[in-house]
Amino acid sequence: MLNETQRQLLQTLWEAGPLSRWELHERTGLTPNRVGTVVESLVAARLLRECTPEAIGAGRPRVPLEIDPSGRHLIGLALEPTGFTLCRLNLLGELVERIATPEVPDATRLIKSAATALGKAINPQTLGIGVTSTGFMDSQSRTLLLSSATPGQKDVSLRPLYAAAADVPLVLGNDMHALAARWSLSHRTRATEDTLIVWFDDGRIGAAVLVDGRPNRGCFTGGNELGHMRFFADTERCFCGQTGCLERVFSNSFLKRHARSKLPALEMGLMKRLERLHAADEVIHLVMNHLCTGLSNAVNFLRAQRLILISPLAESSRLRQAVLDGTKALLMPPLDRAVSIEFWDQPAVTAAQNAAWLANAELLWTGWDAAPSDLAEPAPAGLKRRAKVTR
Ligand SMILES: [Zn+2]
Repeated sequence: MLNETQRQLLQTLWEAGPLSRWELHERTGLTPNRVGTVVESLVAARLLRECTPEAIGAGRPRVPLEIDPSGRHLIGLALEPTGFTLCRLNLLGELVERIATPEVPDATRLIKSAATALGKAINPQTLGIGVTSTGFMDSQSRTLLLSSATPGQKDVSLRPLYAAAADVPLVLGNDMHALAARWSLSHRTRATEDTLIVWFDDGRIGAAVLVDGRPNRGCFTGGNELGHMRFFADTERCFCGQTGCLERVFSNSFLKRHARSKLPALEMGLMKRLERLHAADEVIHLVMNHLCTGLSNAVNFLRAQRLILISPLAESSRLRQAVLDGTKALLMPPLDRAVSIEFWDQPAVTAAQNAAWLANAELLWTGWDAAPSDLAEPAPAGLKRRAKVTR
């Protein structure tokens, strides 16, 4: 575990590195001696390294420091509906290794299998572990409360993962929070605006809300369930138990269910029909209208300053423009002028890589994704639930 000063220097180098010891002193206000001592400890722990010295004038050459991409690593473990994925990233967030994982057809064995693989992946260079899942979780009781990774099971214990991690710090979070961590860290400086991040694909819509740069607290750790915002739409039953969920509308299964059109485009899937947005394709316009309504309702409700959209479908410029225009048209004035809406183009990465970014966020911004129960002093059992309800 890092102490606060070590973390402060690491953060400064993440945001503005490489920097010399003197520049670190100027930026942090720590004395040059203190910077020297702490840098020495971070270099010894292989978190930082010295770059090639740069000669400046007649004085001593400047020795820039940077985060060491080759010394230590972070492990990401993502629990998913089809099993789990595991990988190793360096401290710059670059993929070092995809760790092969077995298929787990029996979801009741998921956590045990994942814990065994995690235990084998940890070595003395492991600095932190990020574990993510869809759905809701309680990091204090170390329980997965409800998740598509463990269908039909409730309150699944995650203790085997913590036992496998032993003394390596493990941060547990929702998969959307992990994506939000990657978005935030990739921008080098910590965003302070309220931001709604939405990821969408065929039949899947996830969201995270950053308030003052960190995920909103809520009553327990989870994504912001925009995909389960419900409409009066005729859909198949969602895994959440309801019908009319936005992510059930934004899906190929919805197109098939409403295959009334005589268009030749009917043979095409969601992506192709979204790309074309044929004027006579009423069903695809209905799907788009629901997506834009869901997005604009969320922004109207939150008054978020930024809406960041991420989608593997967004390669189509026509689709992007339709989402931007359709959402903006439904925003309340003056929100339509004040809110910045943009697509984030980013390389496709696995859920395990995002999970490792969550560990990176924990390393640099400790407690970034902590639930209130993780931060609060232990309260008498009778008061705990009441405190949550009255938040
Ligand atoms: Zn649902």
